[in-house]
Amino acid sequence: MKKIQMVDLKSQYEKIKPQIDAAIQQVIDTTAFVKGPITTEFQQNLEKYLGVKHVIPVGNGTDALQISLMALGLKPGDEVIVPTFTFIASAEVIALLGLTPVLVDVDEDTFNASIDAIEKAITPKTKAIIPVHLFGQCADMESILNIAKKHNLAVVEDACQAIGSVYTFSDGHKAQAGCMGNIGCTSFFPSKNLGCYGDGGAIFTNDDELAEQIRIIANHGMKVRYYHDLVGVNSRLDSIQAAVLNEKLKYLDEYIAARQKAAAFYDKAFAGCDKIKTPARYGKSTHVFHQYTLQVKGDRNALQAALKEKNIPAMIYYPVPLHLQKAYKDERYKSGDFVVSEKLCSCVLSLPMHTELDEEQLVYITETLKSLL
Ligand SMILES: *Cc1c(COP(=O)(O)O)cnc(C)c1O
Repeated sequence: MKKIQMVDLKSQYEKIKPQIDAAIQQVIDTTAFVKGPITTEFQQNLEKYLGVKHVIPVGNGTDALQISLMALGLKPGDEVIVPTFTFIASAEVIALLGLTPVLVDVDEDTFNASIDAIEKAITPKTKAIIPVHLFGQCADMESILNIAKKHNLAVVEDACQAIGSVYTFSDGHKAQAGCMGNIGCTSFFPSKNLGCYGDGGAIFTNDDELAEQIRIIANHGMKVRYYHDLVGVNSRLDSIQAAVLNEKLKYLDEYIAARQKAAAFYDKAFAGCDKIKTPARYGKSTHVFHQYTLQVKGDRNALQAALKEKNIPAMIYYPVPLHLQKAYKDERYKSGDFVVSEKLCSCVLSLPMHTELDEEQLVYITETLKSLL
C-alpha cells in the first residue's frame, strides 16, 4: 500500500508531470517571471470557471483578505464580524489594520458561522462580515447577504478552503464560493484544493470600482507608474505559480470529484458508528472537502495517537478558537463564551483527504479507525 498522507501532492504531480514541466519551462524560457502573460491567461480562465467579472491574482490568501479589507476603506475602530472557529488569517488581517474583530460562534453541524450569532453581534460600528467557508462547504450565504443588506454591511468571503464549491439560493440560482459577497478571497497554498507550487492567492469581485481599488492597492497604491495615490502593498502571483495553476485548473472539477468520492467512502464506512460524527452537508452548498472532519465522542487525542501508531495521519483543525489565542487576548472574551467552537476544538479530527486516495488506503483507514473506537 502507498504511504498514507494527509495530502499527496507528489502522486498528483506525477499524473500531469509533462504538462506541468512544460508550463514551468515556458516561463523560464520567456523569463517573464512576474506579471507575465501566463498570469493574465490564468486570471481569465479562472474568471470563466467561476463566472465572476474580476479575478485579481495576489501573493497569498492572507494578502487577499488584507487587501480586500483595505479596498473597503474601513477605518480603525470599525467592527468586522468573523467566526472564532477558523484559521487565524481571517482575523489576523482585521487586527493588523487596526479594525476590531468581533467574534461569533459557529454551527455545530456545518462548522460555519451561526446566523443567529452574526445578527446578535451587529452594532452601529459593524462595517463588514467575513464568512469563512470552512473545510470546503459554503456558509449560509443567503442569510448572511440578507443580514448585510439590512444593515448595510460589506461581505468579504474567505473561500480559501472552498474554491469550486457551489451555493444554491432559494430562487434556484447558483453561485461559486467567493463570488457571492462584495469580495471573495482564495488561497493557492499547495495543500489547498487548487494549490500551486509555492504561495499564491486571488481576490474575486463583480464590482468594477472595487476591482480597480484592489488592483491599485495590490500594486503599491499606484495606478500610473511611480505615482502613489494610496498606501498599498506589494502582492503578486508569480508566473511560475500561474503556469502551474493554469494547468491544474483544467482538473479542478476532477479533483473535487475525487475528494467527494473519498468523502462518500468515509461516510458509508462510518455509518452507524455512534462514537464519531461524520461531517454534515446541509443542501444549500456542495462540499468540496478541503478537509473531512470528524467529531469524536471520547478521547480524541488518544484516537489520533493510536491512528498515528498505525501510520494513519490525522490532524486537529483547529485546536484553539481565536478568542483563546494568546495574541488575540481581549477583555471582551473569555473561556466559555463560545461553547460550540470550544467544544469543536476539543473533538474535531480531520482524516487524510486529497485527490489521490485509493480504495486500498481508504479501506485500511476506515477499518483501522473502526477497530480503534
Ligand atoms: C489557508 C487559509 C488562509 C490563508 O491563505 P494563505 O495563502 O496561507 O495566506 C486564510 N483563510 C483560511 C480559512 C485558510 O484556510
